[in-house]
Amino acid sequence: MQSNIKYKRALLKVSGEGFGNENGRGIETGRFITLAKEIQKVSEIGAELAVVVGGGNILRGARLGSVGKSRVQADQVGMIATVVNALFLQDILEGFNVKVHVVSAVEIKDITEPFKIRACLQYLKEKDIIIFAGGTGNPYFTTDTAAALRAIEISADVMLKATQVDGVYTDDPIKNASAKRYEKLTYMDVLSNRLGVMDLTAISLSMENKLPIIVFNMNERENIKKAIIGESVGTYIGE
Ligand code: UDP
Repeated sequence: MQSNIKYKRALLKVSGEGFGNENGRGIETGRFITLAKEIQKVSEIGAELAVVVGGGNILRGARLGSVGKSRVQADQVGMIATVVNALFLQDILEGFNVKVHVVSAVEIKDITEPFKIRACLQYLKEKDIIIFAGGTGNPYFTTDTAAALRAIEISADVMLKATQVDGVYTDDPIKNASAKRYEKLTYMDVLSNRLGVMDLTAISLSMENKLPIIVFNMNERENIKKAIIGESVGTYIGE
């Protein structure tokens, strides 16, 4: 089953908007179910998969921080929001008989597991899915940076960045019909043109550690599986 897998171990980043309504807000059960089915397909081909979930559908710290007193505390609320998405996704995956662990950088005893690299590597070897929650555990960071960090820590072969459009474009494809999709970009292209694919910390960390990134549309069926077996989807970012 494994012979046609290009990236044996992958880290999938799903932003909170991927769980929300048409405005990217709230919790849309149907979107969790769709994603869980796609993850199940990856699990069936024997690839090793870890998922980092965002929390922007519920709350982003930078926005709350401008209302309340403390950005640090606002970010803590944001980190908890990612745990909410992670637990919900876990529950739905388990409904599909997928073995899945929620590993959180923010400890919520009895509900999530702490991040211990040895345990995580063992889970991956056993082909269990890991959902990383709580971002990096530190304020002023994003879950994109957490995704790059976790991908490097678990020695992932690729980071799959799930978005709502099918890659990186020369301009906003929704507003500009003549915008073209890039097939391939270098890290430096993204950094120097500030292409806004991910935050710059995440791109720099990926560049330093030669972690390839594939930006793709999560709403197209089998895209996660296609990316893992090496079919061309979205935009590839590398050296
Ligand atoms: N967050 C944080 N540290 C991290 C990751 C996330 O403080 O390492 C907080 C931050 O407030 C952020 C929120 O959690 O706005 C949700 O994460 P993010 O905005 O990255 O979610 P996404 O945009 O991927 O949905």
